[in-house]
Amino acid sequence: MLLSFLGDPVPSSGEWVAFDRRNARMNASMDLPQLNQDERLRYARHLSIPGVGEEGQRKLKAASVLLIGTGGLGSPAALYLAAAGVGRIGLVDDDKVDRSNLQRQILHGEPWIGEPKLASAQHRLREVNPLIRIEAHSSRFTPRNAEAIASEYDLILDGSDNFPTRFLTNDICFFQKKPCVYGSIFRFEGQSTVFWPDRGGPCYRCMLPSLPPPGAAPSCEEAGVLGVLPGIIGSLQAMEAIKILLGIGEPPLGELLCYDALRTSFRTLRLAKDPSCRLCGPEASIYSHDNSETRSTPDCNMTDIPSISVDELAERLKHNPATLLIDVRQPDEHAEAAIPGSRLIPLGEIADRINEIPREGEVLVHCKLGGRSAKAVTFLQAQGIQGATNVEGGIEAWLQRGS
Ligand SMILES: [Zn+2]
Repeated sequence: MLLSFLGDPVPSSGEWVAFDRRNARMNASMDLPQLNQDERLRYARHLSIPGVGEEGQRKLKAASVLLIGTGGLGSPAALYLAAAGVGRIGLVDDDKVDRSNLQRQILHGEPWIGEPKLASAQHRLREVNPLIRIEAHSSRFTPRNAEAIASEYDLILDGSDNFPTRFLTNDICFFQKKPCVYGSIFRFEGQSTVFWPDRGGPCYRCMLPSLPPPGAAPSCEEAGVLGVLPGIIGSLQAMEAIKILLGIGEPPLGELLCYDALRTSFRTLRLAKDPSCRLCGPEASIYSHDNSETRSTPDCNMTDIPSISVDELAERLKHNPATLLIDVRQPDEHAEAAIPGSRLIPLGEIADRINEIPREGEVLVHCKLGGRSAKAVTFLQAQGIQGATNVEGGIEAWLQRGS
C-alpha cells in the first residue's frame, strides 16, 4: 500500500491529489530555511508531532507575525509565538509600562515600570528565544504607518484595546489579503476569531459595521478585566496564528469563539458575511484603510481632537449667540449649573439623537472637565460632523473663568 502509486501508472484521482499535494509541499519546503542543531533541540516536541514535524518548524522559522499592542492580549501571544519559533515577530506599541498593567500584561515586570513597553517586550522575548528576530515599531498603529508596517508580515494579530485600531487592523488586512487574528476581552468574557475574507467568511466590519457610540463600550480602565482572561484569549489567538502559519486544521472563519469565565463555557457563534458590508461586500464603498473609522482618535489619546478654550468659547457666544453648544453631562448635572444657551444631550443618548445635530457648521461640545465631551467629539467626527469641537476643561474651567 505504501508505495502503491509508484506501481500504478494511472492512480485514482484521489491519489493524484494526494501526490500533487505532496509534491507541492516538497517543492515549497526546498525554499524553507534549514534548522540548525540548537533549533532541533529547542523545538524537539514540535518535531515529533505529526502534521508539524521538521517541515512545519521550518515554516514557522520562515514566517512573520505582526502584533498590534504588547498589553493583555499581546503579552501571552508574543510569548508563545516567540517560544514556538516564529522567525520574525513585529511589535507595535508606543505605551510605557505602568504598575497597573502588571496584573495582566505578563510580558512586563516590576523593573520596567516607566520604561517603553517595546523595550521591556524585546528584552523578555529575547530571554524566551534568542534564535528569532524581534522587530520593534515604536509608535501607535495609525492610517499613516499601517500600510508600510503591515506589508512586512504574513499575518497580523490584533491585541489592541480600542475600536479605531481594530477597524484599522481589519481594513489593512483586508486590503493586503492577510489573516487578521482577532481577540477582545471584557471583565469575565472574551472572544476570538480569524477575519480573512480573501479565504472566505466575514470581516470585522460585518460584525460591527461602524464605530460604536462613545460610552457604549467602556475601556479596560473603566470596566476592569480579570487578569487571567487576556491570558486565555491571547493564547487562543497565538494558537490560531500558528495553525495558519503551519497550514494545519481549519481557521475559525465565520465563527466567533466566546468564552465566559464565570460559567466556564466556550460557545461558538456563527458570524455571517454582511452582504451590505462597506468593506468586503459586493457594493463596497471603502477603498482605503485611511477612512473615518480608522482615523478616529482612540479614547485614551485626545491630542488630535479639535478643541477650543473657554475663553474662545466666551468670544464665540458673545459674537454669535446662536452658536450651538451641547452639554453631554447628565440631566442632574445640567440642572445644577449650565452654560447659558447650552443644549443638553447626555453622552449615552448622542447616537440616538444625532439627527438633532446639524451636519454643517460648528458644533461645540462640553461636559464637566472635557473627557466625556472628547468622546462625543470623536464620535461626531466619525459620523461626518466635521464641525464638532471640544471645549477644553468643560464647565469647571468655564466657572473658574468667572463668566
Ligand atoms: Zn465585511
